[in-house]
Amino acid sequence: MLEEENHLILSEGETSMKKASNILDEARKEGRNYLLEPEAKAVCREYEIPVTEFRVAKTKQEALRFAGHIGYPVVLKIISPDIIHKSDVGGVITDLETAQGVEDAYEEILRNVKKHKTDAEIIGILVQEMAPESTQIIIGAIKDPQFGPSLMFGLGGVFVEVLQDVSFRIVPITERDAKEMVSEVKAYPLLKGYRGKPPADMDAIINILLNTSELVIEHTEIKELDLNPIMVYERGAKTVDARIILEGKSPKED
Ligand code: ADP
Ligand code: MG
Repeated sequence: MLEEENHLILSEGETSMKKASNILDEARKEGRNYLLEPEAKAVCREYEIPVTEFRVAKTKQEALRFAGHIGYPVVLKIISPDIIHKSDVGGVITDLETAQGVEDAYEEILRNVKKHKTDAEIIGILVQEMAPESTQIIIGAIKDPQFGPSLMFGLGGVFVEVLQDVSFRIVPITERDAKEMVSEVKAYPLLKGYRGKPPADMDAIINILLNTSELVIEHTEIKELDLNPIMVYERGAKTVDARIILEGKSPKED
């Protein structure tokens, strides 16, 4: 994984496209066909897709320091190439309000992960800002066998998972396409505000769709991208979890 500090120095003056390419290449060099969450979020950030603030802690002391910088409450997550679905193994602990909470969660995550896979490779613990609860959307990119790279939009939870209430467009998309993608899902009224809930920031959603389109157009080696969930607010939005899968097989799958 790219060391954050090194990355900043090495990539000064480089374009967003090049910086994102460096992150994708680095994962490849390490024999992976998928990015770890901090890598995927770093790629998103280069394309101005808003993500939760995060730091990668290698020790408990670092986790405490980063939590202090980011500001409580924070979320701690496992970063391991051996663990794709972090919460399935007790690798995510949210809403940590205190330093003591961070210390305990740090230990607990490592215990949970080791229980699941004794020899799991641990890159570190991801400390990130806790995004307040809100309406959740999902934005994804896939390569349709017939039409090529496509974007998907839907609302989080049952809407996508149970009702398959989603919209698709082939990339690149225009602003008009993005607007249509949002308004054509059945759950759209929920984004316009209801029962005293404020409307979601439509411009923020449109921008994420347009930026995701640009990201997958400029990096054809991305096979799948999943921003799930993205919290949408009255002002702005925040991606809470990001996954990127690359074309080709990982040597680890052999
Ligand atoms: P997984 O690898 O299991 O998908 P996630 O990173 O998605 O792990 O975390 C699981 C769930 O925890 C998320 O779907 C979300 O509900 C919650 N969560 C994770 N990170 C945050 C965050 N920074 N702020 C608020 N909620 C979060
Ligand atoms: Mg997730």
